[in-house]
Amino acid sequence: MSNLPNCPKCSSEYTYEDGTLFVCPECAHEWTAESEAESREDEKVIKDSNGNVLNDGDTVTVIKDLKVKGSSSVIKIGTKVKNIRLVDGDHDIDCKIDGFGAMKLKSEFVKKV
Ligand SMILES: [Zn+2]
Repeated sequence: MSNLPNCPKCSSEYTYEDGTLFVCPECAHEWTAESEAESREDEKVIKDSNGNVLNDGDTVTVIKDLKVKGSSSVIKIGTKVKNIRLVDGDHDIDCKIDGFGAMKLKSEFVKKV
């Protein structure tokens, strides 16, 4: 039934949840679900067109003109995009572009500044 993670310290499988904490009854180690999620996220690496690893909060520029779906607007090559957020999916960058609003981009069409 339970798919709680094993204790990262002693590998006990008797972990239980206490609010937002995971608690190990055997060694009394406590940790958060967040740190658990972070270590999982580390495994997924999103890279820009040059192979540089992208992180949340990075600033990137667009390396080719991108048509905006459902409109005649084009995001011009060289457009600076600040404070990106990495997401799952085909378009793996969530961001806001001045004059366009919230957008999703593909990491292969940007490069890190
Ligand atoms: Zn433990």
